[in-house]
Amino acid sequence: MKLIRELHKSFKEDSKLIIFCDSKILYDQSENTYSFAPKDLNLKNQTKPFLSIALIDDCYFYVVNVNKDENILGLFMNPESINFVDLRQILGFLDQSSFLLASRASILQAWITSNDFCSICGKSNLYNDKEGAFECKCKSSPKYPTISPCIITLIHDEDQILLGRSKFFPPNMYSTLAGFIEAGENTEEALVREVKEEVNVDVSDIEYYSSQSWPFPAQLMLGYFCKYKSGKIVLNDNELEDARWFNVHELPIIPPAASISGQLIRSYIEGRLKL
Ligand SMILES: [Zn+2]
Repeated sequence: MKLIRELHKSFKEDSKLIIFCDSKILYDQSENTYSFAPKDLNLKNQTKPFLSIALIDDCYFYVVNVNKDENILGLFMNPESINFVDLRQILGFLDQSSFLLASRASILQAWITSNDFCSICGKSNLYNDKEGAFECKCKSSPKYPTISPCIITLIHDEDQILLGRSKFFPPNMYSTLAGFIEAGENTEEALVREVKEEVNVDVSDIEYYSSQSWPFPAQLMLGYFCKYKSGKIVLNDNELEDARWFNVHELPIIPPAASISGQLIRSYIEGRLKL
């Protein structure tokens, strides 16, 4: 996948569209896809230039934002199986590369909708193709997509792993702990602080695993393993409704493998089972 940010007046011959409405993505349940050929859609109300975000095997992928009252479905599209859904809802159905493209599309559609107007003088922004950024004639600084770095970590103690759940999770689902990196902090410092703040536990032996773009709304998740050092679980802030130790042989529902939290947990368990 080649990443691009080009504004096109019309679609290239070979192209697919990723459609958003109120930050929800158009998804075809029966085909398990969120990208659609322009010819299948009803695009008569679309007059703005289209942002192309990726090039895959000579096919251009575009993000398009539509209004709530706009009927985007073409004549032969089945409204029974094609709906706008929260990207989280379909995370479990997407493979890694499909998730990355959807993630990029979601982050960039939010960037487009929040940069219609200049935040300094209030006039309409223009798109600078060379920079791949929104600009205003008042010479305020160009607006590039913004990504927030976060740490995400699996705390382990031999056959035990510490997982938490937020009240927004499905029943019995637990995940790794995560948090935003503060200004002036490095990732290891952020990890130690976040773990202490969320569950009152001290950790050591921080080991980098991998990273992942995370579109809720626009994070870069930096994944680490860390070892339990001391402390009893106490929920210190309001972010989690529960956190507990789980034996690797008796796990709750965990996040899907397409997410870095799911990968951290699966990777650690596989390592333990080989012992
Ligand atoms: Zn301005």
